[in-house]
Amino acid sequence: MKILISSCLLGEDVRYDGNNSSIALNSKFSFSQKELFMDILCDNDIYSFCPEVSGGLSIPRIPAEIVKRDKPFIVQNQNGEDVTINFLLGAKKALDLCKEENIKVALLKANSPSCGNIKIYDGTFSNTLIDSQGLTAKLLKENEIEIFNEDQLQELVKYIKTNS
Ligand code: SF4
Repeated sequence: MKILISSCLLGEDVRYDGNNSSIALNSKFSFSQKELFMDILCDNDIYSFCPEVSGGLSIPRIPAEIVKRDKPFIVQNQNGEDVTINFLLGAKKALDLCKEENIKVALLKANSPSCGNIKIYDGTFSNTLIDSQGLTAKLLKENEIEIFNEDQLQELVKYIKTNS
């Protein structure tokens, strides 16, 4: 199955701080979770994608949060600069890739203002999570693409088995 995966989860140094969120190398994950992740990588066609870099933002970059979660969205970085267009462009490019390649499922990094599928930071830069979605996760979901995060690997495997 074709799966879009947040580049940072694959170990690419694309995060705002120039680091990655590698599942394989992160001590937060158990050995069995890492094994499961490696099985997912080996048994499927993986498309690595970082919406923020694809939307034209640099590595490293000033961290950003969604400060207005209804349309028209507003995303600002910690310096108060508007980066909404970069986030929207990254989301659109992710959707375009999914459409071009007929990708129906994505594994996206939790809590990110682009990739978060269940929770994101609340826009106050106070480390407060709220129930909401990042702009890429939201757009993909609106277009019937199933989204999982790194804490939902079992659910992703179940989805793959059911839909292969
Ligand atoms: S935008 Fe998504 S893929 Fe890129 S660094 Fe943030 S969480 Fe990772």
